[in-house]
Formats: sequence, C-alpha cells, structure tokens
Amino acid sequence: MRSVIYDAIIIGAGPAGASCAVWLAYLGFSPLIIDASERVGGLSAHNPFEDAWNVTAPGLTGEEVAVQIKRSLDAARVPVLLKMRVNRVEIIEDAQQVRELLSRHSQAEVSNCQRLFRVFFDGHALLSRFVVVASGVTPRFPQELAEKKYEHVLVGSGHHTAYYEYANKKVAVLGGGDNAFENAIYAQKRGALSVDIYARHVRAQKKWFDSLEQKQVHTGEYLFDPQALTVNGRKYDVVLVFYGYQAQLNGLDSLGLACSEKGYVNTEVLTAETNVSGVYAIGEVSNRHHPCIVTSMADGVVAAKAIQKKLEQESAEVETASVPSC
Ligand SMILES: Cc1cc2nc3c(=O)[nH]c(=O)nc-3n(C[C@H](O)[C@H](O)[C@H](O)COP(=O)(O)OP(=O)(O)OC[C@H]3O[C@@H](n4cnc5c(N)ncnc54)[C@H](O)[C@@H]3O)c2cc1C
Repeated sequence: MRSVIYDAIIIGAGPAGASCAVWLAYLGFSPLIIDASERVGGLSAHNPFEDAWNVTAPGLTGEEVAVQIKRSLDAARVPVLLKMRVNRVEIIEDAQQVRELLSRHSQAEVSNCQRLFRVFFDGHALLSRFVVVASGVTPRFPQELAEKKYEHVLVGSGHHTAYYEYANKKVAVLGGGDNAFENAIYAQKRGALSVDIYARHVRAQKKWFDSLEQKQVHTGEYLFDPQALTVNGRKYDVVLVFYGYQAQLNGLDSLGLACSEKGYVNTEVLTAETNVSGVYAIGEVSNRHHPCIVTSMADGVVAAKAIQKKLEQESAEVETASVPSC
C-alpha cells in the first residue's frame, strides 16, 4: 500500500461515496474509497429489479447501475479497496504531529492543514486530510432473532427475497411500510399459497394497501417465534421481515458524530459536513430527505465541492504566506 496522504478517504463505495470520489478525482484531488463488500455499488448491487426512479438510467436494474458505478470509478482512476472494513478513525490535531506527518510525506510545502485523519481497516492504517462517511444503512433485525440466523426468516430486501421460491408456500410478512406490502404482493405473484401481513401500524401507500385483501392484513401487536416459524401461533413456511433500515456506523464511534433521534448523522445542508470539522456524511447514513440513488449521488457532489473549497483555501493560504513582503 502506497504511503501517501490522501485528500479524502471515503468510507463506502455505494452511489454516494462513488459520486463524491469521482467528482474529487475530476476536480484534481486524490480520493481513496474503502468498502467492506466484495464489489462496488452498495445496496444497489443487491437490487435485481429495474430502477425506474433514476431518470438518467432507464431500464437498468440496481445491479446494472452498480456496474455503471464501477465503470465511472475506473474511468476517473479512483483507487478502491474492497473487502476492507474501516474499524476506527483517529483525529490527529496536535500541530507538531501534523507537521511531522506532512513533512514525512513531502506534503508540508503544499499544505496548511491543521488536522489529519488516520483511518484503520483490517490491520492497515492510511492518512487523509478529509474523511467522508458514505456507509449507508442496514436492515433492522427483529429482537426475536437474538442475532441468530434462521434459514426461512428473510430480513430486508435483496437477492435473498427476490430469488426465494415462494410457489405453494405459506408466507408471513412482518412490517407495515411500502417494502412489506410490495414484497407481500411480489410473493403472491410468484405463486405463494397464502400471504399474511402483520403490522403494528400500517404506513404503506394506499395503492399497495388496496392491492391486498383486508383479511390478509393483521394490524396490532403480534407474537413471532422464529424457531417455530409461527406468528400469533399460525405456522408459516417463510417469514419476511421489513422493519426499515438503520444507519451503518459500526467502527466509526471514535469520530463522535452527532446523530438525529433515529440515529442518522446530522450534516450541514450546504456542505454535508458533520459536527466534526473535516468529516462529511453523505447518502443514506446521513439525516437527509428521500434517500435513494439520486439523492445519495447528489450528496456526494455537495461534499466533493465543499472539500474542494477547503483544499483550495488551504493552498491559497500557503501561497500567500510564501510571498515575501516588501
Ligand atoms: C432491494 C433494493 C431496491 C432498491 N431500489 C431502489 C430504486 O429502485 N431506486 C433507488 O433510487 N434506490 C433504490 N434502493 C435504495 C438505494 O440502493 C440506496 O438509496 C443507495 O444505495 C444508498 O446509497 P449510499 O451510497 O448512501 O449507501 P449504500 O448503497 O448502502 O452503500 C454503503 C456502502 O458502505 C459500505 N460500508 C459500510 N460500513 C463500512 C465500513 N465500516 N467500512 C467499509 N465499508 C463500509 C457498505 O459495504 C456499502 O457498500 C434500493 C435498495 C434495495 C436494497
């Protein structure tokens, strides 16, 4: 691994992180992406369905969007480290230490930076001047699972739910949002023997709600036993769980990021900067409206432009300081 100080280390190669990195690269800076998965694209790489919401990519599935993301990263020559999970980020603010690190990396003369970040992942550590958290979200697991895996309890959307063989199966769906209803209808279309939805409250759009018979929707408290595959004592062949998503911030506690009540990272609207100077949060991990591929990519651009401004300010300060006064 090269011993350099990157302008920005971006945690996550989904639409948000990739967009930020590509913009930074074309703006003339040196970004690096680190991602825990084996391929780029984030959640979109797990979506086998057509993404009709992205008006620049009609007809493409989420998986195909992920392939385009890879092409964009390759074209912009953005280095990407895959199968590497960031587990700590250290903020170095001691002026002496920052100066020493910059001079060791021959960057002292081009930089007036006050702070550096050391990003730790899988036994390695790299330095950067900015950090961008683009780590997305993970599905919420029901507490009944107690962190165990059950073959016929499927949590969240992706290949596992898309390619499951529903024909002649009794299906229970837990959750009251759009995802729960869409997947219930999907299982029904794929030949399920019966489909029941269990929801404490229904929040799904009317069009999804109206697509099912009322007797299929059970509202109020319910008892789920994952071992016995029963809900309220009724036996099923498969149980799908859609309890929404939560921000993925494992390993990033050391940054001390301020989050919303629901656990999403708070950011400045105009810059995507967090409460920690030099750290940005973009895409689904941040507390933004309407999370999707397009808004995640837009966030990436916002952060890249804000970082550009700061980097250019720092080098302008160095140039001014080096002009001899008359
Ligand atoms: C089945 C499905 C269908 C969808 N359909 C659509 C659709 O039609 N249209 C649409 O716009 N959106 C859709 N979405 C949502 C869309 O995929 C997300 O909004 C988008 O991917 C969010 O981008 P992101 O970059 O913020 O995060 P993500 O795509 O979640 O990427 C985050 C990345 O960060 C990595 N990461 C997390 N923590 C670490 C760490 N500590 N170290 C290293 N790497 C880390 C993860 O491995 C992941 O690759 C769908 C999602 C799913 C699951």
